[in-house]
Formats: sequence, C-alpha cells, structure tokens
Amino acid sequence: MNRKNFVKTMIAGAAVGSLSTLHKITSNLKNSEKLMPALFVGHGSPMNGILNNEFSQKWSTLAYKIPKPSAVLVVSAHWYTKGTKVTAMDFPATIHDFGGFPRELFEVQYKAPGNPELAKETSALIKSTSVELDHEWGLDHGAWVIVKHMYPNADIPVLQLSIDYTKPPTYHYQLAQELYELRKKGVLIIGSGNMVHNLRMVAWDKINDNYGYDWALELNQKFKSLIESKDHESLIHYKNLGQAANLAIPSPDHYLPLLYTLGLQDKKDEISFFNDKAVAGSLTMTSVELNAL
Ligand code: ZN
Repeated sequence: MNRKNFVKTMIAGAAVGSLSTLHKITSNLKNSEKLMPALFVGHGSPMNGILNNEFSQKWSTLAYKIPKPSAVLVVSAHWYTKGTKVTAMDFPATIHDFGGFPRELFEVQYKAPGNPELAKETSALIKSTSVELDHEWGLDHGAWVIVKHMYPNADIPVLQLSIDYTKPPTYHYQLAQELYELRKKGVLIIGSGNMVHNLRMVAWDKINDNYGYDWALELNQKFKSLIESKDHESLIHYKNLGQAANLAIPSPDHYLPLLYTLGLQDKKDEISFFNDKAVAGSLTMTSVELNAL
C-alpha cells in the first residue's frame, strides 16, 4: 500500500470508527425489535433503599436478568400533581420525601443523570394531554429506593412521570398506552407503588414481618388473578371489587402506578410476579414483570 492509499484507508477507518461511536450513542433510543420489559414494583418502606433484604435483593437480581435499559422512567406514587409532568433536568436531585427515618437514609445521594431529550420525546408521545417539562422535582423515594439497587453505578438516566391526581383511573391506564413506544426504545418503565397500601391500619407490632391481614391477602390474590387473566377493566374499576378494596386502596396514589404498567402491556408479554409478600398487615410488596423477551 502506498502512502496515499494508506492515508485514505486511515481516514476511512477513522470515519467508520466515529460513525460507529455515534451510532452507539444514539442507537439506545432507536426502535429495536425487542420490547423492554415493563414493571410494577412495590416499594414499601423508604428503608428498603438502604437495607439488603429479600425485596432489595430481588431488585438487584432482576436488573441482571433483563437487558440494560437506555433509560428508566418511573411513575412514582410520590409525585402526585395537578396535570402530568415529566422530569427534564440534566441532573435530577435525590429527594428525601419522608420523615422519622435514620440519618443514613437522608444521606443517600443517587446521582443518575436525567435525559432532557427523552423528556421532550415522552411529552411529545402523549397526545391526550399536554405534559409539562419539569425542572423542579428530581427523584423521590418511590424511584431511587428501587433504582439504586437495580443500577448502583447510577450510569443510566432516570426520569419520572407524575400522576395527575385530578384524573380518574381510566385516564391513567390510557395515558400509559401512549407511552408504549418507549418500550421499543429500550426504556424501562416502572410503576412504583404498593397494590395494597393502608398506612392507617399498619400493624406496628409486626412492622418487619411478612404478615398480612385477611383482607389484604384476599385482595392480593384477587389482584394477581385479575392481572393473570388480563382483566384490566376490573382492575381499572377497582372500586367495584368490594369492601376489601376500600381497605386496600383508601387513596389511589399507590395503586395507580399499577395501571400505568398494565396500560403498557403487549399481547406477547409473559406475566410474572415477584416479592409476592404482605408486610406489616396492611401493605403488599407484590410486584409484576411484563416481559415479551
Ligand atoms: Zn410509598
């Protein structure tokens, strides 16, 4: 090879190199053949953020099992707003939105970046309402308690989508359907709440026990069987599920994230449950994985 051709080859090689690097950077958010799984995760106590227990261990192992996402979008029970918002900052702050816990929990800083471009894309995907790009919130404990265990290196962008408290359950289920495209772009969407969540009825003497009241266990079974049979209508209209549902869902904030996950369901998804446990009488950690891989 003469010098001229050698230089040409080098230039061509360099161009291919930089193109493939560019491709790597942008391909994360391009459509892929495969659908990223979608999750509903029972987050439970904020202490799960720093405890190495059966729940947090499952979150870690799940992250190894599924493909590495291009970004994580969390619909957290703890971001309850008028209107729908999506976090759009470069670096979301870690929010310690709780009281009465040890200092160690308040010292947690989960420094995952945001992804303002993905925030804009998410907002644009939703046609049924206008979604505000938010620069004030960050990552509340409904998000970081879980994601910190899944991706401890904080190297994956994390965004949050708020829950509009003025809207009925059907609205949330349908809004989630508009987010379906994100699953094709490698975005892991997590609804974060607790299906059964009644803090007024917590059995304080069994706060750390896998113990559920009869009505909590009954509802847990009911929810699982409705999810398995894909009876989303009954889950959307949960108020018709009887007295146990009134006890399990005294307010909808921790239940609605489940409807986001179910709204993202694909007919090819296999449904499985994990962390299927009641704690402290009136809470369940029962979580759902929808996976078409
Ligand atoms: Zn919570």
